[in-house]
Amino acid sequence: MDWHFRSRSHQCNDCETAFVDEQPYRTILFQGFESLERRDICPDCWDKIYKTEPGKIEGYISHWQGIYEMPPPPPPEAIQKDNAETLLKKMIEQNNPEHTEACFILAVMLERKRVIKNKDQVRQENGKRMLIYEHAKNGDVLTILDPALKLDELGDVQAKVSELLEHGLNPSDGESKPIVTVTDES
Ligand SMILES: [Zn+2]
Repeated sequence: MDWHFRSRSHQCNDCETAFVDEQPYRTILFQGFESLERRDICPDCWDKIYKTEPGKIEGYISHWQGIYEMPPPPPPEAIQKDNAETLLKKMIEQNNPEHTEACFILAVMLERKRVIKNKDQVRQENGKRMLIYEHAKNGDVLTILDPALKLDELGDVQAKVSELLEHGLNPSDGESKPIVTVTDES
């Protein structure tokens, strides 16, 4: 489990009060039993339970404050070409180690465009650096493994990312052939 994706809650994970537009909340990121987890906490619960010692939660990794934004209505269903953001989300969901480098490059691109913000970075037990990002608008948390690319590897990875952006993650592999309709001539 090198990278993860955790969406922001729409309610406090302690008292279950729904968040309202533009209210502050806190996010605590921690290593759960099987995977990385987050708790989104309203200010009341934060003051009562966590404020004095946020790190007491088991597996604690990081925490920060955010402002909840009401999600916009879902966009109309449309076939869209992947952009850096959708491509990164797909790759994180696939969790394929082959895409570690590409995920990292995409995250750097998106950070430069201020689509995502770097919140923290933690050193894993294997010595590798894990970068924690939050989506600037919807509050989703992404964790990205730093592949510690060497300068002479950068070009290849960037070329691969450009190709993925151009052709998508899963280019048609010829498996789904169109059904041929036979006209009845009798
Ligand atoms: Zn609460």
